[in-house]
Amino acid sequence: MKSHFSISLRLTLWISAAFICGFVAFGGAMWLDLNHTTSQGRTKTITGRARRLAELLQSTQFEPSDRESAKFNDFAEATPEGRFIQVYDLDRNRIYPEPPAPAVDFPWPRQALDGTAGISEAPYNGRLYRVFARRIDVHPKPLLILVAGNLEDNRLLLQRFSFGLIVSTPVLLAVSALCGYFLSRRALDPVDRLTASVRSITIGNLSKRLSFSATGDELQRLAQTCNEMLARLENAVGQIARFTADASHELRSPLSLIRTLAEVALRDPRIDDSSASAFREIVTEAENAALLLDDMLTLARADAGHVEAVFEPVDLTSLLAEVCARAMPLVDVKRHTLAVDFGACKKHSICGDETSLRRLFWILLDNAIKYTPAGGRIALSLDCVNGRSRVTVTDTGIGISAAALPHIFDRFYRADASRSYEEGTGLGLAIAKWIAGIHQATLTAHSDEGLGATFQLVFPPAA
Ligand code: ADP
Repeated sequence: MKSHFSISLRLTLWISAAFICGFVAFGGAMWLDLNHTTSQGRTKTITGRARRLAELLQSTQFEPSDRESAKFNDFAEATPEGRFIQVYDLDRNRIYPEPPAPAVDFPWPRQALDGTAGISEAPYNGRLYRVFARRIDVHPKPLLILVAGNLEDNRLLLQRFSFGLIVSTPVLLAVSALCGYFLSRRALDPVDRLTASVRSITIGNLSKRLSFSATGDELQRLAQTCNEMLARLENAVGQIARFTADASHELRSPLSLIRTLAEVALRDPRIDDSSASAFREIVTEAENAALLLDDMLTLARADAGHVEAVFEPVDLTSLLAEVCARAMPLVDVKRHTLAVDFGACKKHSICGDETSLRRLFWILLDNAIKYTPAGGRIALSLDCVNGRSRVTVTDTGIGISAAALPHIFDRFYRADASRSYEEGTGLGLAIAKWIAGIHQATLTAHSDEGLGATFQLVFPPAA
C-alpha cells in the first residue's frame, strides 16, 4: 500500500501512539488501584472503629450508666469522625449518644437501621459517606453499631490524580513525538546517507563503493549487498565497453579499406556513370560509418575510464574562432549567418583538453547548422559570469520539443523532428556531455519547438 508519509513521520506517529496508549493504560490501572486502595482504607477505618466500640461495649456488657456514656463519649471524641458513630437498639431507638444529647442527624440507610450488617453508602451535607453497620449481642438486648466515614478525601485524591493524568497527557504526547522523531531520524540517517551514496553512482563511476560502519546490522548487510551488485555491474559494463571498443576498433580497418577501394575505383577513367554513383555512395556511407565508429569508440573508452585528455591552459577565444572558421563552409552552403560575440574578451584562458573541447564546440555548432533551415541565424558567444566562462550557441532552427528535451543527451537518441530532417548518429550530444563532465562544466539545453535552440556550456570558476 502506498503511503504519502515518510518512514520517519510514520515511525514518530507509531511511537507516539504506543507511548500514549501505554500511558493511558498505566494511568487507568493506577487510577483503579488508587480508587480500590483508598476505598479499602476507608472501609478498614470505619470497621476498625466499629470493632473497637463493640469491644468496649462487650467488655462492659452494656450497663447503661453515666459511666458507660462517658466511656462512649470519650471514645467518640477520641475518634476523628466521632460524631458519625452511633448506637441503636433493634427498635431504632438511639442508645448512644444518649438522648436527649444532640446527635448528628445522619441519614442512616434503611438496611443499616434494620440491623443488616454490612457496608453501604449515604450522602450527607453534599458529601458521600461510607456506612458500616454491626450488630452486637450484649445483655439484655442486641445493639446496632453504626459508623460513617467521609469519602470526600478519597474523591479529592482521585480527582487530583485524574487531573494530573489529563494535564500530563499532551506534555507526554509532545515529549513522545519529539523522542519518536529523534529516534527515527537517528535510525534512518544511515539509510539517507546510503541513498545519497547510491544516487551519486552512475555508469561513469561504477568503481565507487558504498561506505558503511561495521555494525553487523541490516544496514551493513544492505550496503554490502549493494557493493556486491555494483561490482557485478562494473564487471558487466566493463565487458560491454571493452567489447564495443574492440568491435569499433576492429571495424575501422575494413571500413577504411572499403572506402579506399571505392575511391580507387572512382579514379578509373573507364568507370560508367551508374557505377561511379554507386561508388560515391559507398564512400559517403563508409565515411559516415567511420564517424559513427569513432563516436562509439570515444564513448566506450569513456565508459571504460580511458580518458585520453591532457589538461593544460586553453584559450577559448582562439579555439572558438578556429571552430567557427572550420564551420564557415557549412554555414555558407546553407546561407546561414553566423554571429560571433566574444564581448570584451581578447583572451579567455581555462584549463582543459583542447582536442576534446574542439570536438564539443564542433558538435554544438554543427548541430545548430544542421537543425536550422536554410537562411537561419546562428549566434555563438563567449562571456564571463561570476568568474565562470560561458559559451552559448543559439540558433533559429527547428527547436526541440518539451518531450524530447530531457533525452537529447542520451546515447542514440534523435528527436522525431530531426530524423526526417538531417542525418545523424544520435551520439554527438552524449559525447559533448561527457566532455563537459571531464571539465567539471555544465552543458544545458533550452528550446521552444519551432523557435530554435540554445545550448550553454558553463565552466567552473577559474582556479
Ligand atoms: P545527431 O547526430 O542526431 O545530431 P546529437 O546527439 O548531436 O545527435 O543530437 C541528438 C538530438 O538532439 C538530435 O537528433 C536532435 O533531435 C536534437 N538536437 C541537437 N541539437 C539540436 C539543435 N540545435 N536544434 C534542434 N535539435 C537539436
